[in-house]
Amino acid sequence: MIDQSCENILVGGLEAGGTRFNCVIGYGNGVIIASQSFSTTRPQETLAKAADFFEQSISAHGPLHALGIAHFGPIEIDRLAENYGKILTTPKPDWSDTDIVGFFSAIFDVPIAFQSDVNVAAMGEHYFGAAKGIDNFVYITVGTGIGGGVFVNGQLLHNRAHPEIGHMRVPHDLTRDDFKGCCQFHGDCLEGLASGIAIENRWGSPGDGLTKDHPAWELEAHYLALLCVNLTSCYAPEKIIFGGGVMLQKQIITSVRERFLKMMQGYMPSLNTKTIEDYIVLTPLDGNAATKGALLLAQQALVSPAKSLK
Ligand code: ZN
Repeated sequence: MIDQSCENILVGGLEAGGTRFNCVIGYGNGVIIASQSFSTTRPQETLAKAADFFEQSISAHGPLHALGIAHFGPIEIDRLAENYGKILTTPKPDWSDTDIVGFFSAIFDVPIAFQSDVNVAAMGEHYFGAAKGIDNFVYITVGTGIGGGVFVNGQLLHNRAHPEIGHMRVPHDLTRDDFKGCCQFHGDCLEGLASGIAIENRWGSPGDGLTKDHPAWELEAHYLALLCVNLTSCYAPEKIIFGGGVMLQKQIITSVRERFLKMMQGYMPSLNTKTIEDYIVLTPLDGNAATKGALLLAQQALVSPAKSLK
C-alpha cells in the first residue's frame, strides 16, 4: 500500500535499462518533478551520470530521502546474499559483477531499494496503471530483451531470485521460422526468438523500420501468444499487461489475443472473445511504469528500511 504520510517526501528513482538510464525525482504517489535520460554505456560512466543527476536535483530541490533502483537483470536481490546489490553474469559487456547498490550507497546516505526493472514496472502497473485494483497479474516488457514481473495476491513473486520469464522455452517450428535465435545462453528461448534484437537479426532491420503489415509482426504475435498461454497455465492471472519498445507496434496485440484464444481451445471458458480485450492489454503508462514504480520502491524503503536494505 502507498503510505499517505510519505507522499510528500522527496525521493529518487532510477530505471537502469540495458539501453537507457532514466533518472527521476518525485514522490511515492508517482508524481515526477524532474527527470533525465541518457544512453547506457560503460558502468562507471553511466552510474556517474546518474549520481550527478541526483546531486544536482538535491541542490535544486532539497534532500532526497531514499532511492529506488529498478535495474536490468540478472541482479542479486536477496539481501542475505554476499553479492546483494550486484549485477550477475550478463551478456552486456563490462556490466557483470558491477556493484550497483555499493556505488550509490557510497555517495548517498539514504535507504536504497534494489529490484529488477520489470518487477518495478509491475509495481508501477499495480499502483498507477492497468493493474490498479488487481492483485494477480503479469507484466511483460518486450524490448531489447524480454522480461516479466508477476504479482500474486498483491505481492511481487520472488524468492531468492526474480523470475526470468523471457528465457522460457517455446515451441520453435524451424519449417516456419528458420532463425536460430539470438539468446547468448539458450539460442531459441522466447527472448532469443521474439525480442527486439531477435526481430532485427532475423529481418535485417529494427522493428521500427518494418512496415505494419510486415510478416515479422504475425510471427511476433505467434510467439507472444505462446507466452500468454504459458503464463495463463502457470499463474491463472487476472490480466497480462504488455509494455516495452516492440509493443509500440500496437497492431500486434489484436493478433496476440486471437492467436491466444485459438491455442487455448476453450480450455479456460472464462477467457473468450468477450473478455479477451480486458485480459491481454497494453500498458497505459507510456514507458513510465518503471520510473513511477522506482519512486514507489524508494518510498517503501523509507517506510520499511529493514525490508529493503542489507
Ligand atoms: Zn535465453
